[in-house]
Amino acid sequence: MSEARTCAVCGQLFEPRAQSPNQKCCSRRSCQRARKAQWQKQKIKSDPDYRENKQRAQIRWRESHPDYWRTYREDHQAYAVKNRELQRIRNSQPKEVAKMDASAVGDHLRSGLYVLAQTTCDDIAKIGTWIVHLTVIAELSN
Ligand SMILES: [Zn+2]
Repeated sequence: MSEARTCAVCGQLFEPRAQSPNQKCCSRRSCQRARKAQWQKQKIKSDPDYRENKQRAQIRWRESHPDYWRTYREDHQAYAVKNRELQRIRNSQPKEVAKMDASAVGDHLRSGLYVLAQTTCDDIAKIGTWIVHLTVIAELSN
């Protein structure tokens, strides 16, 4: 017989199951869900293989459900209206543009707005300049 302990999520007393002596959450569905979400968040941070697999799975899912978001927006008009309004507000705000040489990126490239300048190799003459948004999908290793 194990002793009752406090659930790390809801704070209620529960009795850990005999099979899981280290159980930290009660068996309520909402607590188990929160625990799993927390575990995944941690795993994504700490395990590059897990992170990459998960991203691949998401890409596959999106490819096999190409109409999901369009259908979702049609079925959730209020959500779509609110989202468009928020995007309009974001678009009207001045953008902060970080300027940085590729050599100054350091060990970690962060997602964000970048000024991308293409140059020729020999005389560093600028061919063109763009403001681009880079999204870091995964940092594999350094
Ligand atoms: Zn709980």
